[in-house]
Amino acid sequence: MKRSFETMAVHAGREDLRDLGVHALPIDLSTTNPMPDPELGGDELGHLAMGGGLRSNAVYARLFNPTVGRFEAALSQLENAEASVAFASGMAALTALVLAAKQKGGHMVAVRPMYGSSDHLLASGLLGMEVSFCQAHEIAAHLREDTSLVFIETPANPTLDLLDIADIVRQAGDVAVAVDSTFATPVLQRPIDQGAAIVLHSGTKFLGGHGDVVAGTLSSSEEWAVLFRQMRVVMGALLHPLGGYLLHRGLQTLPLRVRAAQEGARSLAERLTGHPAVEKVFYPGLPGGDPKGLVGTQLKGPGSLLSFELKGGEAAALELMKRVKLALPAVSLGSCDTLIQHPWTMTHRVVPPADKLAGGITEGLVRLSVGIEDPNDLWADLSAALGG
Ligand SMILES: *Cc1c(COP(=O)(O)O)cnc(C)c1O
Repeated sequence: MKRSFETMAVHAGREDLRDLGVHALPIDLSTTNPMPDPELGGDELGHLAMGGGLRSNAVYARLFNPTVGRFEAALSQLENAEASVAFASGMAALTALVLAAKQKGGHMVAVRPMYGSSDHLLASGLLGMEVSFCQAHEIAAHLREDTSLVFIETPANPTLDLLDIADIVRQAGDVAVAVDSTFATPVLQRPIDQGAAIVLHSGTKFLGGHGDVVAGTLSSSEEWAVLFRQMRVVMGALLHPLGGYLLHRGLQTLPLRVRAAQEGARSLAERLTGHPAVEKVFYPGLPGGDPKGLVGTQLKGPGSLLSFELKGGEAAALELMKRVKLALPAVSLGSCDTLIQHPWTMTHRVVPPADKLAGGITEGLVRLSVGIEDPNDLWADLSAALGG
């Protein structure tokens, strides 16, 4: 029987716990595993090193970890993917994605704006992949014979621009489309259902949800997952088992957290819109905030991230961050508590100013990751700090 997403979030990856006689997820911290049959052990090592999944023996903890494997199985159900591969950070996942695609062709297309460090990694050329940056409607024009990947982020960071995944998949034709869906989580958006080949998450954000684990994931076909695992083995980028445990535990409350935070963000976005110190609010749930009409279809709800432009520019933004008492001035997002940051000097610091401005990131822009506190308390804090 097909169960609802909420039920899956609670039970996925836990199907065998009843028979194991335990209730909580087991944590396996072994760095190595006994190989009573050495020939078989050697075969299993070769299989895992080439990116295969677990068969009879995990061999060595850089190759595979059962606690992480459980979380991956659970995430695959939520993303409607054949397989998921978990990494020590979102950036490790992006690195593995680019290196895997590079095996198929040395050129990729990426749409700005995106997470600052992703932009930096792709623009730096450090991985030897040639990257063409373009607008979403220009993708088809940038495809080449050796293009192996189209990379997008939606909702985008920090402007909350929404891209039409199905349209981008159409433009990309035979080329695989990867979507950084960190801001949406599988609760609000499932890119694979829209035709994307690969979904990336910084698990550090909503999946963990409590600000205590750094992690990244790629969900895809088994064919892509083999390449991702192979990269993970050579990079030594497997997620630590405690991280796998925390992410898996976090999945149980993910739908509740995402919805509660979304209600808070909706309320704050509306109230900020009328504030005299605020020039403009960026939130897909506001009138005019979703010109492509994707909220309610591709994206089930507008989410809990919002940005707003202050009339007083950078000075006002930095002042606001000094004055808030409940919202925490900090980068990152998707925690239970509300975080506030200034993209120009913080998350997007390493992006050149002209590229920031082209991506809609101005000096007076403030980003808020709304948590699950009572929105009235958050508004009292914000409006006091804004002086209104
Ligand atoms: C945080 C983040 C990343 C990078 O993830 P890390 O876990 O910090 O390495 C990538 N994309 C988005 C949208 C993010 O918010």
